Amino acid sequence: MSASNNERYQQSYTPSRPASSTLALHGPVESRRETGPLVPPIVQSTTYIQPALDGYAGPTYSRVDNPTVAELERILGGLESAPPSVTFGSGLAAETALFLATLKAGDHAVVGEAVYGGTTRLFQQLLSELGVDATFVDSTDAQAVRAAIKANTKLVFVESPANPTLSITDIRAVSEIAHEAGALCAVDNTFLTPVLQKPLDLGADISVYSTTKHIEGHSAALGGAVTSRNERLNEKLRWVRKCTGGIIAPFNAWLTLQGLKTLPLRLERQSQNAQVVAEWLSETEGVERVCYPGLNGFTQRTLADAQHETIRGERLHGGVIAFELAGGLEAGKELLRSLELCRLVEHVGSVETLVTHPATMTHADVPRAQRKRFGLTDGLVRLSVGLEDPSDIIADLAKAIEAGLAVSGAVNGPVGEEVVNV
Ligand code: PLP
Repeated sequence: MSASNNERYQQSYTPSRPASSTLALHGPVESRRETGPLVPPIVQSTTYIQPALDGYAGPTYSRVDNPTVAELERILGGLESAPPSVTFGSGLAAETALFLATLKAGDHAVVGEAVYGGTTRLFQQLLSELGVDATFVDSTDAQAVRAAIKANTKLVFVESPANPTLSITDIRAVSEIAHEAGALCAVDNTFLTPVLQKPLDLGADISVYSTTKHIEGHSAALGGAVTSRNERLNEKLRWVRKCTGGIIAPFNAWLTLQGLKTLPLRLERQSQNAQVVAEWLSETEGVERVCYPGLNGFTQRTLADAQHETIRGERLHGGVIAFELAGGLEAGKELLRSLELCRLVEHVGSVETLVTHPATMTHADVPRAQRKRFGLTDGLVRLSVGLEDPSDIIADLAKAIEAGLAVSGAVNGPVGEEVVNV
């Protein structure tokens, strides 16, 4: 092994904190089962036999806890040096429980403007009806976050990198602002997962996940998770989950556990593939804008490098890219029609390369003016790079970009004025 390789591998052997690739397989070694099947069984039972009314400490009912779910929670929490995570039936179920646990009528939240469209819908259309007030701000500007704080602010919620613009929020800075105001800071870390970013180490109180995405990784199971080192909050989350019934199903927990085993490996390769594709896009004529934190021209590159983790010495930025063609919406639509290998879906983080049109799909419920403010133009295309050979992804994109530019005549006119919010 060369000296540099030796240095690289030393990282993985730090006894105080095993690397993510080790934790994703074993969780914290001290909490592992000592006997039994290597692969945890799927416990489908809804309920559990209790030997007597008194003195029983095991699981009682699967809406409250379940051994397969508990194993997933042990591993997910371990990835962030935290107690077991609290898992849910989807990412939005996790967010809903988090908001119910931290906000009540009369409270206020500061929310990053660039977040998943379903998060915006939850605040603007549902929590607002329950008396929870939210101010959406450009969370890449810490001073804007500070200015939005009110006396009743209880939560600062940001997403970094944000869906779909990949903008980066300074997690340390916004956590400090939240704490000064006596509020909690939560980070939607779905795009990078605990393998490539550890919000709790950066000062946040809470990491939130749609495990449906990279964590499960095979588009086979919905799920969500909240991870925190705040035991009182974890207790409250479990209580909210018991009240509202949002726990992940045992089979989905098991599929997610299987996915977790290769998460570090997949993210390493998907980030490397995304870097190659993003660099190619940024050099391709007719591609007007490429958003990827690993590009030298990415305006928040320094912050991205400071917040994102390395795997075996290599700084990685995840598998998601956003880009726009000259010709905006018309060109983008034709590009999406012309792709053959890359699949058009409302999803990211799978092993296959996926494309999405955020303005009409994932972010259709975000008011158009708000979308435009944070750079989600109608022509923006989101690309979730998979495990295919990058040369095949590029070949598919090259053909589709050519078709898109031909149809639009690559006009740099106003982008997509005809799109309405569906
Ligand atoms: N957070 C982000 C960043 C997402 O992309 C999504 C879904 O696309 C969610 C949360 C919601 O997750 P789910 O679809 O599992 O409810």
